[in-house]
Amino acid sequence: MDAEVIIVGGGPVGLVMAGLLASRNITCILLDAAEEINVTMPAHPDSRALAISPASRNILAAIDLWSRLPGDRVGCFRRMHVWDENGQGEIFFNGEDINQPALGYIVEQRLLQTTIEPILACLPALEIHHGQAVSALVPEKNSLGVRTADRIFSARLVIAADGAASLTRDLAGIVTRRNDYRQTALACVARFADGHGEVARQRFLTDGPLALLPMAGPEQCGIVWSTSTQYAELLHAMNLENFHRALGQRSEHCLGEALESGPRTLFPLQRIEAEDYCRERFVLIGDAAHNIHPLAGMGANLGMLDAACLAQVLNAAREKNKDLGGLHILRRYERWRRLENRIMSMVMEGFKYLFEEQTPPLPMLRNAGLDITDSIAPLKHWLMRQAMGLSGDLPEAARQNGGVKNKVSIKE
Ligand SMILES: Cc1cc2nc3c(=O)[nH]c(=O)nc-3n(C[C@H](O)[C@H](O)[C@H](O)COP(=O)(O)OP(=O)(O)OC[C@H]3O[C@@H](n4cnc5c(N)ncnc54)[C@H](O)[C@@H]3O)c2cc1C
Repeated sequence: MDAEVIIVGGGPVGLVMAGLLASRNITCILLDAAEEINVTMPAHPDSRALAISPASRNILAAIDLWSRLPGDRVGCFRRMHVWDENGQGEIFFNGEDINQPALGYIVEQRLLQTTIEPILACLPALEIHHGQAVSALVPEKNSLGVRTADRIFSARLVIAADGAASLTRDLAGIVTRRNDYRQTALACVARFADGHGEVARQRFLTDGPLALLPMAGPEQCGIVWSTSTQYAELLHAMNLENFHRALGQRSEHCLGEALESGPRTLFPLQRIEAEDYCRERFVLIGDAAHNIHPLAGMGANLGMLDAACLAQVLNAAREKNKDLGGLHILRRYERWRRLENRIMSMVMEGFKYLFEEQTPPLPMLRNAGLDITDSIAPLKHWLMRQAMGLSGDLPEAARQNGGVKNKVSIKE
């Protein structure tokens, strides 16, 4: 056996999983299909900016990674404004109302990965191998092997964090439920004439939501524009002038004119839900288990909660000298996360359809609903806590000051 645990996939969720286990001296091998990451700090912002919830910040802090992110590249949003293109309804959220300094943070996805991977690579209990695409699962006596082009790696437990198109999920025979949204998200970074004032903004347009996420630069925003695939392709192909005009118009010039923008990337949108999260010696986390609409920026946050819950279950099993790949242990994690993830996925889908429906009287009711919600403080506070990952059955690492035992100790 090569290690106690193999993690397939070194995206944000696989990396956090590796950090949570290896910092507790559970030996791990992380395999990623992509060639070696470029550890030099990306000079220009990545096209995909992630909204990181306070719960995910706590998880990263629990393994001493949060403070390692370059402060001048991490944005923060203290307030949020949501409104509908088809009506006057709107809702404002303010972290101060529930004594939270920030509703969330904005971090470029590539920056997050290129910062934390080299730090984790120093953990004595962790080996990271790039250019190792897993192509088969190889059942063995008391362990499970994964085949790459070079060799077979084996461990007591294989954790699949290989994203929405997870091959290992299919190889394990886990079926999925899917809904193709026939929408595509266009992501990029743009600079506007007016400062964002640390407010996250989302305007629900008829064909999908347009989010402006405040980045570290005072006028710089991460754009996530979910729309029909046809329109997304049109936006993608536009010259800068036309794209900036469209961005300004469709965001109601809430930040003035768009002045500059970086490369645009398209992401086809669908819901994918795994029916089961585990098999004997095999378990799913992150997008491999659930891929949801990005309208509330929850995908990576749910994945980090998966990682923290699974780490807590595995740590407890290890303290009792149990086999980490045992199905009854993995089922504990599945019971903890599957329903919660499914509810979040359905809620996102519900919001998507609710805001797209234009048959009267729905737009009027929807706008009235926004205004009514805005005026009921307890309901708003509850919604904020849900979105921030501060309520529900949280793993220890996601609670404030939780998981301080998990400090990363770096190899000499
Ligand atoms: C436009 C957009 C905006 C978003 N905004 C937010 C946001 O604001 N907040 C948020 O929380 N989430 C957001 N999300 C969702 C978030 O990006 C995903 O949930 C997150 O990337 C999932 O991480 P992951 O590690 O599970 O999978 P991935 O990021 O997909 O990583 C999978 C990894 O597995 C590797 N891999 C794949 N196959 C194999 C194989 N066979 N063998 C070995 N390695 C393999 C890949 O190389 C990759 O490194 C957004 C998504 C989109 C599309």
